[in-house]
Amino acid sequence: MHDDTAIRLPMQRSIATAAVPAAALTPPIHAGDAPKPRSLYLHIPFCAHKCHYCDFYSIVDTRDRQDAFTARMVRELAALAPLAGPLDTIFVGGGTPSLLRPDLWEHLLTIFHQLFTLEPGAEFSVECNPETVTDDLMPVLAAGGVNRVSMGAQSFNRHHLTTLERRHDPDRLPLAADTVRRAGIERLSVDLISGVPGQTLDQWHADLTAALALGTEHLSAYTLTYEPGTAMTARLHKGEFTKTDDDLEADMYEHTVATLRARGLDRYEVSNHARPGAECRHNLAYWRQESWLAAGPSASAHVLGWRWKNTPRLDDYLAGDDDGFAPVCELEQPDPRRALMDRLMTGVRLREGVDAPRALADARPLHAEQALAEAAEACRREGWLTVTESRWTLTDPGFLFADRVAADLINAIP
Ligand code: SF4
Repeated sequence: MHDDTAIRLPMQRSIATAAVPAAALTPPIHAGDAPKPRSLYLHIPFCAHKCHYCDFYSIVDTRDRQDAFTARMVRELAALAPLAGPLDTIFVGGGTPSLLRPDLWEHLLTIFHQLFTLEPGAEFSVECNPETVTDDLMPVLAAGGVNRVSMGAQSFNRHHLTTLERRHDPDRLPLAADTVRRAGIERLSVDLISGVPGQTLDQWHADLTAALALGTEHLSAYTLTYEPGTAMTARLHKGEFTKTDDDLEADMYEHTVATLRARGLDRYEVSNHARPGAECRHNLAYWRQESWLAAGPSASAHVLGWRWKNTPRLDDYLAGDDDGFAPVCELEQPDPRRALMDRLMTGVRLREGVDAPRALADARPLHAEQALAEAAEACRREGWLTVTESRWTLTDPGFLFADRVAADLINAIP
């Protein structure tokens, strides 16, 4: 496809921080002959309550800014639409997107379809919390083309939900899954968290079993991480609980893979499991370092090596408007080293692994080809990596060392 449209970034006056040099903003991103992005992320920041482990940009909105937010996002989508190709994947995350009022969702989706073209069979995901999955909202989403709900269950155990400061009633989860399906949304993914303080292997097994009982085709199982600045990390440092033992975390991980595999959900990324064909194509686009556009406060985009992030503060997002574009707070120009690091970092975590010839070709201008090949070979000798001419893929035991393998490969780049 030929396209000489310049992908234009927000101008300097929209930049919310002086940290971005003005010169970096001057050259537009020229798409040239490259295809336009086929993925779009929308960030809806509202949450009913801040969960203690969460470091996503989300706010408990006490000023009722949902109308203003929706109007602002519509303007941003209008600015972004000419830059997008026919969309293959759309992902609405947050925050709690299902907290947006149904009438605003209806408006947003109506405008969205006026602005964007979708590929046949496009994947359209919305993150939902169980308590906001209602008979008012789900039919609106379904009518607007949403065909996949990612449900933030996290646990089915009341005690562990309390530890995480998640406030939903786990008994509501089957009802919520039923509400999604009754609305005609067929694809359901469930998020779970393991390694919650005090959680036993049996309790984790019960969570997995309960998630499978919802009939989910996709399960994301993340180990609890203590992010800097979160309430959970502060409580850990105060000694309110102890971190789950590394061996138990590893046991839980291996149990997850075996349990889900036995039920037909295969690991296709370190923490993500799906029935064949039910993998999240949107997240695969991220992990394969493809291009995507993004709208909403704190949303990050990547187009042809350019990366930028919208300002996270809602008031700044609402006030800043450069022909519809949102203010950005970070901007990175294409950088071969960064591109290779990102490809290794996310690629190695995938079942399909890293495209070895491409990684080595990208390493050549950095004079890192030999060192990278040697690092891959060293990981192979450890039993973590299968090395062929075409791909570097983690072995089954190697999945437990994915971060180490990625670090070893990246550290080989001078
Ligand atoms: S619902 Fe999700 S985004 Fe909101 S605070 Fe909890 S973990 Fe964070």
